[in-house]
Amino acid sequence: MTIESLYNLYKEYPVICTDTRKITPNCIFFALKGDSFNANQFAKQAIENGAAYAIIDEELYSEGDRFVLVNDVLQTLQLLAKYHRAQLNIPFLGITGTNGKTTTKELINAVLSQKFKTYATIGNLNNHIGVPLTLLSIDGSIEFAIIEMGANHQKEIQLLADIANPDFGIITNVGKAHLEGFGGFEGVKKGKKELYDHLQNNSGLIFINHDNPHLLEMASKVDRKVYYGTSEDNTVIGKRIEQGEMVSLEWKLSNDDQWNTVNSNLVGGYNFENVLAAVCIGNYFGLTVKQIEAGVLSYQPTNNRSQAVKTESNTLICDYYNANPSSMAAAIDNFAKNSSTNKLVILADMFELGEYSKEEHQKVINQLKEQGLINALLVGKHFYSLKDNSGYTFFENTEEAVDYLKKHPVRNSHILVKGSRGMKLESLIGLL
Ligand code: ATP
Ligand code: MG
Repeated sequence: MTIESLYNLYKEYPVICTDTRKITPNCIFFALKGDSFNANQFAKQAIENGAAYAIIDEELYSEGDRFVLVNDVLQTLQLLAKYHRAQLNIPFLGITGTNGKTTTKELINAVLSQKFKTYATIGNLNNHIGVPLTLLSIDGSIEFAIIEMGANHQKEIQLLADIANPDFGIITNVGKAHLEGFGGFEGVKKGKKELYDHLQNNSGLIFINHDNPHLLEMASKVDRKVYYGTSEDNTVIGKRIEQGEMVSLEWKLSNDDQWNTVNSNLVGGYNFENVLAAVCIGNYFGLTVKQIEAGVLSYQPTNNRSQAVKTESNTLICDYYNANPSSMAAAIDNFAKNSSTNKLVILADMFELGEYSKEEHQKVINQLKEQGLINALLVGKHFYSLKDNSGYTFFENTEEAVDYLKKHPVRNSHILVKGSRGMKLESLIGLL
């Protein structure tokens, strides 16, 4: 079947499903393959459960009119998404970066939705499957699309940018994450730069944080740039206001003297740049000062990213949605600046660091010491292998930390909880 004919089917049945457990009646089911599953085997079930069509790439069934045999289901999904995107004549903003993609995407969406009917990536659907599914969820009523793009190896952003073809782009920052797949920090920069390259080749425009020298270097060949940052030479200039735990800032345009205030519901000093990015983009697309302010304030984090939670006994900074060396360093630095007296840090291992793992976990321990954080529970085999006489408490796994907290309850403390998702730190939250 050609992409054009498949597109006609999609026009008739515009809901795409990839999971037989969540079939929507009259959807088109794409039988994807993963490391441990082959959905071709479930395609018949998908049809029985109500799918209108199933796209398969193994001849398990006589083709009939409900099964569509293609060479490669994943590639077909990507081509269909790309084809659909090409029919949509609305601005597309692509967003990537090491840290803060989802937070910045949510902030931008909260701001732009004050003026436009927007569609933004749901949750973290940001990979070679998530981006096509995101695109195929955008219908003709949408006026602005915001697409998160994640990557853990080279050429991935290039592929996603080719499919989503953004007209605008932003790289939040570049830092140490997925070092294994990217081949070190230079590899991360090269991999993320693929978004800038795509935009330059298509006369697109980038929003760029002028305070970040890595980004400036990566963008040296991009012609169309709008800068935001703390210095006077930016289109949108921001300065942090120190008040309370939530990030607030003042911003103004370079050609104007009027400072405007925005308040957010986000903790963590690193969110300053995320908020400023959303302000800059809102301003570029013609939102009023009031709309920008209302948009930023309307975003409530609910996803264990930079979320402050008061329990009966403690105040928690829940940041255990994920962790890598740069987000870890930023979170510790931010937490160290908090003035409360009873502070406890609970950190768990960072994954996907390969040969850099030992060194990066050691740096975390050193940073805790340097920043005067004396109470820490360090969880996971990477931290455990660095057990020393620092006075910190080390656990080989999360279960051990849970047992410890049951025996040694923590009260009246300010607690930072951060680690890779696979460490399942949520299992100790109920004890805090
Ligand atoms: P993922 O790779 O999982 O999609 P992401 O890039 O979407 O992650 P977020 O989910 O927004 O990032 O944030 C994850 C964590 O990164 C936050 O909880 C916070 O610790 C950290 N973080 C967010 N913004 C920044 C920033 N601007 N600089 C450094 N760290 C940040
Ligand atoms: Mg994300």
